[in-house]
Amino acid sequence: MSTHEEIQIGPNPCLECGGEYGEHAAGCSLAASRGSAEESELRNELKGVREMLRRECVDWAEDHTYAQNVAKRVGVPEKEVEGDSYGVPAIQDLIDMIAERIPPNVGSERPAVGKL
Ligand SMILES: [Zn+2]
Repeated sequence: MSTHEEIQIGPNPCLECGGEYGEHAAGCSLAASRGSAEESELRNELKGVREMLRRECVDWAEDHTYAQNVAKRVGVPEKEVEGDSYGVPAIQDLIDMIAERIPPNVGSERPAVGKL
């Protein structure tokens, strides 16, 4: 293992200056080494992962709101749809609530759910 690989994000102290979490004391010769490049690469990767996660949350919120609106339209009480301070129903719960409002259509090819 080269000294460059000793510099990493984490508590592992730098072998030269003893700095932790990728921080180096002023004048540490390892601060500007490849380790720093790897750190900035990791930081960029982390930024990308955060952005991906943020988009996933936005997508979930849109799908959730859509399911809530459909549930309200088919007559599920507002209180059930919105949940309370203990939590909101998951998308799966909302689908179950909607399904409960759909009459069974045994034998028919297409379920007559009506215009939602
Ligand atoms: Zn150092």
